[in-house]
Amino acid sequence: MYIIFFGPPGVGKGTQAKILSKNFQIPHISTGDMLREAVAKKTELGLKAKSIMDQGMLVPDDLMIEIVRETLSSEKCSKGFILDGFPRNIEQAEELDSLFTELHLTNIIIILMELDEDEIIRRLSNRRNCSNCGSLFNLLADNINNECPNCKSIGTIYQRDDDKEEVIRKRLSIYKESTFPLKKYYQNNSHLIIINGSGEIEKVSVEIAAALENSKK
Ligand code: AMP
Repeated sequence: MYIIFFGPPGVGKGTQAKILSKNFQIPHISTGDMLREAVAKKTELGLKAKSIMDQGMLVPDDLMIEIVRETLSSEKCSKGFILDGFPRNIEQAEELDSLFTELHLTNIIIILMELDEDEIIRRLSNRRNCSNCGSLFNLLADNINNECPNCKSIGTIYQRDDDKEEVIRKRLSIYKESTFPLKKYYQNNSHLIIINGSGEIEKVSVEIAAALENSKK
């Protein structure tokens, strides 16, 4: 199964992609996570990407396309994948289509998750991460103090620099300008599933599972 998730930051793509990845036993490929790992390891890519990401801007297409080409062509993705965070604009979508043709991949499922802007800002500004296990939490729903509720590490909970309110607004404006046009692109070129990202995580994953089931018919 080959799935692409796109939608505004904070809509819950990563959370839902992780659930599907577990259920279908196929890798979750998040370009944002790959970049954050490169930043943490201070690789050449990480050094180039850090300040761009901190400002909520998009990392140049050529760098992103190279990473995605390499990853999706690798053995671990041969049985399927869930791509989250790519494409972010029409150029990336066109490159991805060429890559799918080269790899002879068909029946790609595209899922757009949508959510209104106030809810996105509320979710993202309350989002916290654990630097040890990578878990995501929300101050509004989870009881977080100094200890990670998942891996129990102390002092590892942090807020991403790009989850600060002014950066969130920048990310949203870039989403509207560059990524939202993909809705039309995929409506014209592929079968697009649109999911409302509001409400509980379980409710949204049930909707996604039903839509995937339907898409087989
Ligand atoms: P995310 O975790 O998907 O919200 O991504 C975090 C940041 O990584 C984004 O704000 C961008 O700076 C960068 N990024 C992730 N994926 C891409 C992409 N496909 N193209 C350009 N920049 C990206």
